Amino acid sequence: MKKMTRRMFNTTLSMGVGALAAMPKAACQSTNNDKKLGVALVGLGSYSTYQLAPSLQETTHCKLAGIVTGTPEKEQIWADKYGIPQTHIYNYDNFDTIAKNPDIDIVYVVLPNSMHADFCIRAAKAGKHVICEKPMAMNVEECDAIIDACKKAGVKLSVGYRLHSEPYTQEMMRLAKDKDFGKPLFVSADAAYISRGNPDQWRLNKALSGGGALVNMGVYSIQSTIYGTGMNPISVTAQEFSTRPEYFKDTDETITAQFEFPNGLVGNIFTSHNASINRMYVAYEKGWAELQPANNYGPLSGTTSKGPMPDFPQERKQQGLQMDDFAKHIFTGSKNLVPGEMGKRDMIIVEAIYQSIKEGGKKISLDLGMMGIV
Ligand code: NAD
Repeated sequence: MKKMTRRMFNTTLSMGVGALAAMPKAACQSTNNDKKLGVALVGLGSYSTYQLAPSLQETTHCKLAGIVTGTPEKEQIWADKYGIPQTHIYNYDNFDTIAKNPDIDIVYVVLPNSMHADFCIRAAKAGKHVICEKPMAMNVEECDAIIDACKKAGVKLSVGYRLHSEPYTQEMMRLAKDKDFGKPLFVSADAAYISRGNPDQWRLNKALSGGGALVNMGVYSIQSTIYGTGMNPISVTAQEFSTRPEYFKDTDETITAQFEFPNGLVGNIFTSHNASINRMYVAYEKGWAELQPANNYGPLSGTTSKGPMPDFPQERKQQGLQMDDFAKHIFTGSKNLVPGEMGKRDMIIVEAIYQSIKEGGKKISLDLGMMGIV
C-alpha cells in the first residue's frame, strides 16, 4: 500500500473519490460522498446496540453503513433508527455477498467469541477490513487463522481493545515509556464484575465463550500489566477459585495470576465474575500511578504519587476514538494501535494461565519477545 502522510490524508478527505486511487481494495470502496469509511456491525447485541452504534454517530472517519443479524425482527428497528437501506442489511447466511457492497469498508465482528474466527475470516475473504471484538478468538490457532486470512486478502485487522485510544490509558503507557517515575517495579491489575444474570447465557457456556472471567474481563487485566509497564511477561503462575459452583458450572469464576517480567519486575492480576473491581496500579522506582476505574466505558480517573492526573478529555466515547484510529491507520498507514497480533499475544497468555491452573499452579514460561508487540 502506498503510505499517506497526515496532510495527504486530510487532502484526500477534502478531494473525495479520485484521490482514493492509491488505496487497497477495501479502503478504495469508501467512495461515499461524506468520505467516511462504512462500518457493518455483525451481531446486534448489547455492545453493538448501546456502545458501537451510538459511537458511530460521532465518529469523524467512520459511519454505520450496514448490519448483519441473525434476528429478523432487529432489521427494521435498526433500519428505521439509523437509516440503513435494505441493500445493506445481511443475515449470517447471505453475509458473504457483502463483498459486492462498495459502501462497506470495515466489518466489525461483535458476536459470541466462538463465532469471531468464522466471521472475521469470511469478512477478510469478502475484501473488507476487519475489527474483531475481544477476546480475539477461542484459542491461539483461531487467532492465527484470522491473521492469515487478513494477510492473504490484503486487508487490515484490529481487535476491539478500545482503551488503546483512551487518554488516561495512553498516559499510563507514556509513563512506562518516558519513565517520569523511573522504571516500573510492580504492576497490579484487577478487572471483574458480579454476574447474576441468566446462568445459561453464552458467556457462561464454554463452547460459546472459550472460558469465563479470564477471557471476558481478564484480558483487560493482562492488557493493563503490559501497557502499564511497556513489557511482555516472561512467565506466569495462576490459581482458580470457585465460590458459586452451582452458578458457574461450565466456566471459570475467579482467577488470580502472577507474572514475571524482564528486569525483575513482577505483577499480579485478579479477574472474576463474582466481585466488582476495576483498577490498575504501577509502582515505579520513584513513585506510583493508578487508574480507578481503569477499564470501564469511562470516564476513567487517574492519580500518581504527585497528585491527580490532568483532566484528559472524556467527552468522546472510547469506541468512537478507537474506530477513528483504525480508520486513520487504513487511510494513512499510521500505526495500527491494536493489531491482530496483540489479540493473539493475549490469547497465548490466556492459554498459559489455564495451563498453569491445570498443572496445579506450575510456572509457565512465555516467549513473547519475537512477536514484536508490547
Ligand atoms: P450479547 O449477548 O449482548 O450479544 C450477542 C449477539 O450475538 C446477539 O445479537 C445475539 O443474537 C448474537 N448471537 C448469535 N449467535 C448467538 C448464540 N449462539 N448465542 C448467543 N448470541 C448469539 O453480547 P455482547 O455483550 O454484545 O458481546 C459480543 C462480543 O463483544 C463479545 O465477543 C464480547 O466479548 C465483546 N464485548 C466487548 C466489549 C468491549 O468493551 N470491547 C464490551 C462488551 C462486549
